[in-house]
Amino acid sequence: MNHPAPEQPADIVARLRATFRTGRTQPVAWRTSQLLRLRDLLTENAAELAAALHADLGKSDAEARRTEIDFVVREIDHTLDHLADWLRPQPAPVPARLGTDARAWTRFDPLGVVLVIAPWNYPVQLLLAPVVGALASGDAVVVKPSELAPATSATLARLLPAYLDTDAFAVVEGAVPETTALLAERFDHIFYTGNGAVGRIVLRAAAEHLTPVALELGGKSPAFIDRDVDLDVVAERLARGKFLNAGQTCVAPDYVLTDPETAAALEPALVQAVEELFGADPKASGAFGRIVNERHFDRLSGLLDSGRVVVGGDTDRAVKYIAPTVLADVDPASPVMAEEIFGPILPIVTVPGLDAAIDFINDRDKPLALYVFAESEATRERIGAETSSGGLGHGLPLAHLTVSDLPFGGVGESGMGSYHGRYSIETFSHRKAVLHKPLS
Ligand code: NAD
Repeated sequence: MNHPAPEQPADIVARLRATFRTGRTQPVAWRTSQLLRLRDLLTENAAELAAALHADLGKSDAEARRTEIDFVVREIDHTLDHLADWLRPQPAPVPARLGTDARAWTRFDPLGVVLVIAPWNYPVQLLLAPVVGALASGDAVVVKPSELAPATSATLARLLPAYLDTDAFAVVEGAVPETTALLAERFDHIFYTGNGAVGRIVLRAAAEHLTPVALELGGKSPAFIDRDVDLDVVAERLARGKFLNAGQTCVAPDYVLTDPETAAALEPALVQAVEELFGADPKASGAFGRIVNERHFDRLSGLLDSGRVVVGGDTDRAVKYIAPTVLADVDPASPVMAEEIFGPILPIVTVPGLDAAIDFINDRDKPLALYVFAESEATRERIGAETSSGGLGHGLPLAHLTVSDLPFGGVGESGMGSYHGRYSIETFSHRKAVLHKPLS
């Protein structure tokens, strides 16, 4: 059977731009209807999406729903609840020299046709959470799911056009050639989530068209642990945050930074926390995921001898399994500390105390997240004031990302721009200044 040739990027963008020019995506009613359709897609096909996520990443059904499907549903609900309020024009004071009858305000305009490029690790959430913001802003949207989560990519490519307005929404599947072809087109915004090397490619391509870009990147997010904290609580929260999705989470605690005595006491607490979460044999636990592919499996396996194994360490390439692993006595110059780990390996690095910890963090790239486990408010404040990171979590990893009223994004090497809730509207809209002076 002959399949029709796939629509070329230039034609897709032209078609969506033509729709945008008609004004069809502008009314709040259109935006709301699209968000409700996206919500229907997620709720009506949750089982199928969860199965695709299991096929790609070994995610349990509960994890797939909580961190991907329900996450986006909550983002939609939050947006629907507040959109009218967020879009309301904001008055600005007018200087007296313009006269008492002059008024000024800002209004959010949609940008036009935007491109969302997503990675494989949360392939539903990281594709669709930006889409929520783009649709809510009244933009037409092209999405490019990650080829490294092929089951999820195929499922979304089939479902999205069945639910959304295809005159204003398109899915392009594919890898480097397809993405390169898309990036040659002129978009009004590019929202990229992934690694910094590709982030630079995206930024260069965007520069050709002066297209604004959000880059949601990664990096090594430290977890600083102060003396005299309850290490059982810390270990449980650290293990939960680190080993979710087999450590393939952009805001996962990458490494622990603490003093030698606390490190020694933390080791048994982490052993216990891993066992409580995944049992004596994590490989048999349905709650523990798998590494996305052999390339990442091999990369991660090569990091396992960067320290003394406290727990875990075993691997099985045939099923891309790497045990939840804690490494102690890790030299900051070792391979595990040279790159973002993005897998279930938690190194413990020791420093003499708080000053050295702050220096350690500031000597490296600005992380996407920084976690501080400290009872002392002064310590938390010092770290907040003296370091720079995309987000800051006191006492609980990952959770800041789930607060829709907080901007989510990086700084420096961990990215630029932010989203979620009202911050998505700021990202996917132009804040236009309006000055009004009556003619008579
Ligand atoms: P990936 O390999 O799926 O790549 C991301 C996207 O870039 C894909 O859609 C892919 O097709 C595209 N791409 C790859 N090479 C390209 C090229 N040469 N030209 C154009 N496009 C190309 O995912 P990844 O980059 O391995 O994702 C992991 C990284 O993403 C980690 O660094 C992680 O920390 C980061 N991340 C960040 C966030 C965040 O929200 N800040 C979330 C998840 C992941």
